Amino acid sequence: MLQCKGGFVAPTPSQRAEARRIAREISKIGFVLPGSLTERYLTCTHAGCHCHAVPPVLHGPYWYWTRKVANKTVSQSLNAEQVAEYRPWIDNQRRLRDLLRELEQIGMSVLGDDPRTPNGDRPPRFLSR
Ligand SMILES: [Zn+2]
Repeated sequence: MLQCKGGFVAPTPSQRAEARRIAREISKIGFVLPGSLTERYLTCTHAGCHCHAVPPVLHGPYWYWTRKVANKTVSQSLNAEQVAEYRPWIDNQRRLRDLLRELEQIGMSVLGDDPRTPNGDRPPRFLSR
């Protein structure tokens, strides 16, 4: 029978304060968009075009919002005005992920310090039957 190694120490006051700070920051984030924005300069099919000159003057920039949908990469064309408006939403998504990661770190730290965790990394072996 495993013995309890001591009473459970709940999240420390500083861990609680940190979690509250992160929650406050998350509450201010607003809109988010998944994926990323990419800028492309392209060559067309007209042989005499400046994009085929030396040095080439390519067409663009063309903007794409790229994201994963059902494990496939999907790109959607955006105009410059849309890029200006939606870019902060994509930045917000990154910020949200960072904050979530910080929150997870606190959670893992609390669990890591939990004295109730049984010894050993592997589950105990039991005799069958
Ligand atoms: Zn061209």
